Amino acid sequence: MARILMENITKTFIDDKRGGTFTAVNDASFEIKDKEFLVFVGPSGCGKTTSLRMIAGLERQTSGNIYIDEKLVNNMHPKDRDIAMVFQDYALYPHMTIEENLAFGLKNMKVSKQEIKEKIDYATKILGLEQLLDRKPKELSGGQRQRVAVGRAIVRDPKVFLFDEPLSNLDAKLRVQMRIELAELHRRLGATIVYVTHDQVEAMTLGERIVVMNQGEIQQIATPRELYRNPANMFVAGFIGSPPMNFFDCVLETASTIKIGDLTFTLPEKLIERYRSFVGKKVVLGLRPEDIYDEEFAFSVNKTNKARMKVKAIEHLGGENLVYFHVGERIITAKVSGESFIRAGEEKSFVFNLEKMHLFDPVTEKRI
Ligand code: ATP
Repeated sequence: MARILMENITKTFIDDKRGGTFTAVNDASFEIKDKEFLVFVGPSGCGKTTSLRMIAGLERQTSGNIYIDEKLVNNMHPKDRDIAMVFQDYALYPHMTIEENLAFGLKNMKVSKQEIKEKIDYATKILGLEQLLDRKPKELSGGQRQRVAVGRAIVRDPKVFLFDEPLSNLDAKLRVQMRIELAELHRRLGATIVYVTHDQVEAMTLGERIVVMNQGEIQQIATPRELYRNPANMFVAGFIGSPPMNFFDCVLETASTIKIGDLTFTLPEKLIERYRSFVGKKVVLGLRPEDIYDEEFAFSVNKTNKARMKVKAIEHLGGENLVYFHVGERIITAKVSGESFIRAGEEKSFVFNLEKMHLFDPVTEKRI
């Protein structure tokens, strides 16, 4: 078993430059289930690494409790927590061979020679490192080094693996490959993994559940599908999904019509009751780029809401095109079919699939 419970965790640092304190994590409570792959995601400085370091015991929380398998570990030394951490820079010893790197931690723990050999055999097989054991880290590629860093965690056979942006030093292609390998590794090891990244694609593809953080606060904890379909607020809505969700400033004119600048759109029947109490109020409408279509390619989509727009710019990505146009002050992105032939400067008719819309309160930024 390896279940972790974080209860009202706050971490403040002394801010030497400005004086006073800085809150890196503010009253965070969450559970990491046994054998779960949980990903922390959020922009730089939002408190992801600090959260991970507190789980590992490398940083002491200012207040709150941490439990591992129902046991309070607030005062437990990192080495006694049975957790292995894989860092961004891999932290391999350059003068040692790969085999020595893998064995190092175990030797310190006074594990027998025979057992060390068995554990290294197991890890190298799982990670495909058999041919590399005699090499030094500098003789390996980035991806191979990354695998050794994971191998060093595997040989310890810990209760929990913590990963801090382990793929950030790899090129885009290798990152995709390693992502697949890590997901497979999780299935094979059946271990609890807590993973930190600022890359929402990495979070969506790896995480069984995702913790979205911003400025030290947890914004939402949910499965990738739930985050995409039911974001709790504008931050999550804008952070998850690529390109990000479009936001339109608008007024709910009647129970069934919404006014966005000069455009008036009709609300889908199924949403009328849900939003009735907001009639006459300013709201923010969120619509993802993939829910705006070039009318000519809007197959099997309800075409009730469409408008002609002057295209400001277009980016051809091959399979799809990103089209940019203005609605009021905001620049809106549509992700349309790669087949659609659009030029910058021309007027085109776009369909807005409001079946997929979200409404947000402009003051609290929460989804309504
Ligand atoms: P990144 O993706 O850039 O690594 P992060 O989300 O992991 O960011 P943290 O490293 O957890 O962010 O840092 C959260 C905040 O706490 C940042 O503003 C950081 O400057 C601050 N911080 C972290 N460690 C310390 C420290 N030892 N002393 C003072 N402030 C710190």
